[in-house]
Amino acid sequence: MDAIDWSNLSFGYIKTDYNVRSHYKDGKWSTPAETTSEEINLHMAATCLHYGQESFEGLKAFKGKDGKTRIFRMRENALRMISSSQGIMMAELPVEIFEEAVVKAVKLNERFVPPYESGASLYIRPLLIGVSPQVGVKPASEYLFVVFVTPVGPYFKEGFKPTPVAIFRGYDRAAPLGTGTIKIGGNYAASLVAGDRAHKMGYSAVLYLDAKEKKYLDECGPANFFGIKNNTYITPLSSSVLPSITNKSLMQLAQDMGMKVEQRQVPEEELSTFEEAGQVGTAAVISPILRVDDIDENKSYVISKDGNAGPISTLLYNKLKGIQLGDEEDTHGWVTVLY
Ligand SMILES: *Cc1c(COP(=O)(O)O)cnc(C)c1O
Repeated sequence: MDAIDWSNLSFGYIKTDYNVRSHYKDGKWSTPAETTSEEINLHMAATCLHYGQESFEGLKAFKGKDGKTRIFRMRENALRMISSSQGIMMAELPVEIFEEAVVKAVKLNERFVPPYESGASLYIRPLLIGVSPQVGVKPASEYLFVVFVTPVGPYFKEGFKPTPVAIFRGYDRAAPLGTGTIKIGGNYAASLVAGDRAHKMGYSAVLYLDAKEKKYLDECGPANFFGIKNNTYITPLSSSVLPSITNKSLMQLAQDMGMKVEQRQVPEEELSTFEEAGQVGTAAVISPILRVDDIDENKSYVISKDGNAGPISTLLYNKLKGIQLGDEEDTHGWVTVLY
């Protein structure tokens, strides 16, 4: 293998040595086994290809100062994948098999876990798909679970810098009683057009409004939204937002720090009152928001007055990163230390 330039990795795909798979057939999951193949041999009538029986997860492993590899909150990802399966009628993968496959994939690719100093990490991508052939609209009887890993670079190459986001009133990501709360590819497909438009206009993401009333803040592209004011961490309560594990962790840390935490409807106008705001998810932990432009209404809400990340976002970010890396005590039992 050519030496990897850890500090110049992007969020892309680099081939590693192994991926780990389990098959569901006749009501049973097979023991997770490794393969070196990057390909999946699939029937052309597999339900994942036609009817969107597909869900995925995203989590990370980090190398600590002590040389140990740590995986962050993988049980939460296992539970969320079960909830995704229930949402689109796929076989439910037991938590233990999920965890076994993730640990196996990380251990077998240990040499791809970036060193502590690099700021890079090992991204873990579990994937679950319906594979048996079906032409009528019905769930598959067989499923494939795959875990692959790939090293990814530090999200903030130029530092922890706020970026602008856009509200477009002409697009929805998910319906109020639809599939927004589960992690499936279809939600992502539905967000590509708006996302591409935002990127071309210089925005980092689309801040969606609730699909029904177009009044309340909802999902922020592939991330959750939070705002800070009066020592309070505020995040939208909505039936179309994906329950982010990063957001859940930040709510806990904010509470630990003595802040108030509110999960409730957040009217768009409240943006003018936030001292800080950000997008949260596994990729960046927190990506601070500079400004929100409501394009169709020709309104603009400036969040960061000086163009820098706010003090509370910075504190929360450093605390969570510290726990992931093993620099901070893991008081909530969030981290699985491998060796
Ligand atoms: C995965 C995802 C997130 C972030 O969830 P984390 O568990 O924090 O990585 C947020 N929104 C959407 C739509 C997602 O798919």
